[in-house]
Amino acid sequence: MKFLTDAMLGKLTRFLRIFGYDTIYANDLLDFYCENPVQDKNLKEYALLSNRLVITKDLPFYNEIREKAILLEGKGVYNYLDQLKRMLNLVYDFDIEKARCSVCNSMLVKINDKNSIKELVKHETFKNYDEFFQCNNPSCQKVFWNGPHIADINEKLRDEVNY
Ligand SMILES: [Zn+2]
Repeated sequence: MKFLTDAMLGKLTRFLRIFGYDTIYANDLLDFYCENPVQDKNLKEYALLSNRLVITKDLPFYNEIREKAILLEGKGVYNYLDQLKRMLNLVYDFDIEKARCSVCNSMLVKINDKNSIKELVKHETFKNYDEFFQCNNPSCQKVFWNGPHIADINEKLRDEVNY
């Protein structure tokens, strides 16, 4: 299942990616379409061509593409994750091997020699962790590890999403 999220859903986009869901964010397409914001008709076209389900908070936009979209209500990322779980049976099991880059949606690769990313993370992080992953997009290269932020997310999910 692949998604296209609207411009109001940046935080949700990052969460979906770290849980391994292939998610393109409307604002990632600003350069592609050379417009800001990207018009609904272009988002609709992109979603159809790339076979993505649109996730939106915008009722008029939702009404245009109902059969290919999910309308979220209320606010807060855990609330949105809960709604998506109910509607689509999504599973939020963090597995760094399946995670996608939260910044650019690319796949991650495991780092064999952690010295190669030494300059890219804080000293403490480098010292405390041995397993690192890196975004395989050459223009991004963000580094990921299974740190305490992941435990925080999992705990919040247990509390706030019927999980
Ligand atoms: Zn990336």
